[in-house]
Amino acid sequence: MIALEDVRKSFGALPVLKGITARVEKGEVVCIIGPSGSGKSTILRCINGLESYDGGTIRVNGQRVDRASGTIRSVRVQVSMVFQRFNLFPHRTALENVVEGPIYVKGEARAAALERGRALLARVGLAGKEDAHPPELSGGQQQRVAIARALAMRPDAILFDEPTSALDPELVGEVLGVMRALALEGMTMVVVTHEMGFAREVADRVLFLDHGVIVEEGPARDLLNRPRHPRTQDFLRRVL
Ligand code: ADP
Ligand code: MG
Repeated sequence: MIALEDVRKSFGALPVLKGITARVEKGEVVCIIGPSGSGKSTILRCINGLESYDGGTIRVNGQRVDRASGTIRSVRVQVSMVFQRFNLFPHRTALENVVEGPIYVKGEARAAALERGRALLARVGLAGKEDAHPPELSGGQQQRVAIARALAMRPDAILFDEPTSALDPELVGEVLGVMRALALEGMTMVVVTHEMGFAREVADRVLFLDHGVIVEEGPARDLLNRPRHPRTQDFLRRVL
């Protein structure tokens, strides 16, 4: 569903992605781990066209992601993103945040979008919070609204960029729980995370990124329990 082939990107003179080749199959959950500044967010942002890239190719469902060629809108409908800091509209209600994309981007009928939006909020455990504004919600609740908003676009895959890193520790579990349920339902997910327990339990595969290179990848249990590369071993020793 998502295929990166020798993807390169620099910010000015700084090379940030140095030839990333990776595939995500339909229904797979792939976690990306690695130190701060290794390029994890940049990979996600290139996949859904928030950033351009300098070399190589990225394809989503076979379609080339290319900011120059006007395919980005179509890619964004296929691949939703959930950010560390939620990025909700603070002056709109939870429900309005969820239905914004379906109504204004996809042109869905308002009544149907609202009905489905309510169902999605219920699915992430937020029945009754439809009319709450983001500032009235906890971080964990806001992130669950953001997940409902991502689902509202009926994406083929969801990219998560450290979705629990901005949360108080006691709120992490409720968000990971929603993500675990999505994974069990077969959603294709790419998750940048420092939650090694989640990665071990939910991921099919883990990629370890360091300095813009995939140093090691493999089935979650193998990579996390028996890392082969010294840099992976060193990283895991520090985070576990
Ligand atoms: P990670 O998510 O793994 O922490 P990022 O992908 O955010 O890493 O960043 C990788 C590198 O690219 C870092 O050195 C960061 O400072 C740099 N970088 C990221 N975004 C920009 C930008 N918009 N302009 C310049 N440098 C950037
Ligand atoms: Mg990041």
